[in-house]
Amino acid sequence: MLRRTKIVATLGPATDEPGELERVIAQGMDVARVNFSHGDTEEHLQRIDTVRKIAENNSRHVGVMVDLQGPKIRIEGFRQGGIDLADGATFTLDTQLGADQGDQERVGVTHKTLADDLVGNDILLLDDGNIVMEVEHISGREVRCRVLNGGRLTGFKGLNRLGGGLSAEALTEKDHADIRTAAAAEADYLAVSFVRYAEDVVHARDLFREAGGHGGIIAKIERAEAIEHVEDIIHASDGVMIARGDLGVEIGDAELPGMQKCIIRNAREGNKVTITATQMMQSMVDSPQPTRAEVLDVANAVLDGTDAVMLSAETAVGKHPARVVRAMDRICRGAERQRVAFSHRVDARFETVEESIAMAAMYTASHLHVAAIVAMTESGATAKWMSRNSSGIPIFAMSPNVATVRRVSLYRGVYPMLVDNAEMASDGGEHHAIRELRRLGVVKKDDSIIFTRGELTGIAGGTNSMKVLKV
Ligand code: PGA
Ligand code: MN
Repeated sequence: MLRRTKIVATLGPATDEPGELERVIAQGMDVARVNFSHGDTEEHLQRIDTVRKIAENNSRHVGVMVDLQGPKIRIEGFRQGGIDLADGATFTLDTQLGADQGDQERVGVTHKTLADDLVGNDILLLDDGNIVMEVEHISGREVRCRVLNGGRLTGFKGLNRLGGGLSAEALTEKDHADIRTAAAAEADYLAVSFVRYAEDVVHARDLFREAGGHGGIIAKIERAEAIEHVEDIIHASDGVMIARGDLGVEIGDAELPGMQKCIIRNAREGNKVTITATQMMQSMVDSPQPTRAEVLDVANAVLDGTDAVMLSAETAVGKHPARVVRAMDRICRGAERQRVAFSHRVDARFETVEESIAMAAMYTASHLHVAAIVAMTESGATAKWMSRNSSGIPIFAMSPNVATVRRVSLYRGVYPMLVDNAEMASDGGEHHAIRELRRLGVVKKDDSIIFTRGELTGIAGGTNSMKVLKV
């Protein structure tokens, strides 16, 4: 059985170790995430290049997702590495303070207008919520706080306001430069951090297209404001990431499970892709086995209907990158054995011919005995419509376009199949598809498959026919 849920894994020093990336790809990484919050451009480009080379040598199509840093608000550094904050202590955030001027009394902040965004009694969370403070008094550039939950605080940790509302623009100057880098590197996806409204997604896409980028735009849902506009953001993007790290800090962790389900459901309805991210297998940064809670978390995301599950520190800096991908692969397959009935959009009216064909194919496939679906696709759109349905039937996106086969690597239940013009010449690729499916062991003699295509190949959105073929 092919795994339907896709695995996004973050590259980093741990996957730079000799042979590690080969193993991570062999264990099933579908999309490589390159995190522009850390490291320099040279390093990122090197990693993208290496992933593509290894994938090609192993006849695999691995997508590349560039993840922008965005306006992550952080405290500045301390003179002596860090401090210990006692519960009840007074501590001041002072935006005029330099990068390593912090001490027991105060520390600098990267967001220079912080004082304007806050009022008394606001709750601030530092270091992903490990330290909690309440705003007591604001004067000029200084925000004096009372420590509610103390602990060790070291430099450059993240700073969030419970409920959101810090005014930082979604795209920083660094992001503008990084978007050009992503375009030049032909990234298959661009993930935009700390999106507030749909306009941020549109703006990022415009900049990416201006720079020559063709990939899809993933909006990271990780700010309280984004939740207020989540439907518009989903509509404006190609997909969304449920960025549970920052989101949990902004809306409170207890809101996360409901929000995850709601975002996945909305995105699916709107024909968009979802990535469930952060701390899915966190203990495996050190441990060789996941906890039971992690097993259940990954499995539940699969049952919620996510397209992909994501690994961050687990593969970027963890001790067992390949092992964690293997564990995730096993958990996804296990969860996928729980079948969900076909019920997607049964009452809906379709707006395009390709969506109608895609739904007709899924309906037929799940009511007739069909071993596989092959969608001849220019842009991957037909395969994406199909994959919004829950089904156990593998969907092969067959395309002569390498960018398309890489893009579909993120879609649940969709597998890339590259085809060249000669292979399509006489019969539109039907024989090629059947040969490939037999080679992969997906079909055998006398099996039925569904084949969809457009009359005018070379035109995106042109799918207008469906055929049932016998092997
Ligand atoms: P990050 O995004 O890893 O870039 O912070 C994911 C998250 O916030 O969960
Ligand atoms: Mn984040």
